[in-house]
Amino acid sequence: MNNAQQNRRQFLSKTGKAGIAFATMPLFSKVYAADTILQASEYAQQPLPYAYNALEPYIDAMTMEIHYTKHAATYAKNLGDACVAEKVDTSNTSLINLLSSISKYSPKMRNNAGGHYNHELFWQLMKPAPSTAPSGTLVEAINKTFGSFAEFQKAFGEAAKTRFGSGWAWLLVKKDGSLAISSTPNQDNPLMDIAEVQGTPLLGLDVWEHAYYLKYQNKRPDYINAWWNLVNWEYVQKRFSEAK
Ligand code: MN
Repeated sequence: MNNAQQNRRQFLSKTGKAGIAFATMPLFSKVYAADTILQASEYAQQPLPYAYNALEPYIDAMTMEIHYTKHAATYAKNLGDACVAEKVDTSNTSLINLLSSISKYSPKMRNNAGGHYNHELFWQLMKPAPSTAPSGTLVEAINKTFGSFAEFQKAFGEAAKTRFGSGWAWLLVKKDGSLAISSTPNQDNPLMDIAEVQGTPLLGLDVWEHAYYLKYQNKRPDYINAWWNLVNWEYVQKRFSEAK
């Protein structure tokens, strides 16, 4: 329990029920109401920002429906269970903070906190085709780091293709502000304190077979190439601006 909660609890116990509605509003909203609402919702699966068939023909409706309602929903549910079992106060712990100290928790927490975060991000990173090209400070940074947008796509695609088994490919911004490409196994991500390359993920590609097998079977490279048509670069740019 942090100081704000401690103070509030003491305050409530002193004022009694009759005083709560009147007396706690300014205190509650001032101290941590907005953060609490934001953080609590981070742990729940949010509505998909488009219809299951909105990403066709590159990702088919059935893949999207199973991916969202079965795989991703299960990560969110299991994350909730793990938080109860491992006594994580989700009203007072941001998901990012949890991920940044994930080495202190169980494999179940690691898999499901990562799984939930990664999928919530993944849905936002896509939009119905056509994709627009990246612009502004992001494209400048990409050109500076990788030589050109085409070279960046090639390197990111390689990271996605060569990730053995299940995992993710990432474009991330490291703590020193530089861009990097990495890949992680399973549901790990660059926010985790156990990640080989750490930073804030800007773009992530799910290369688990559940993300593409119905349409592409074993042809992961075809899925990766098709996926570029769906990238929501405006959102990636927004993340880049906020991460710097
Ligand atoms: Mn997935």
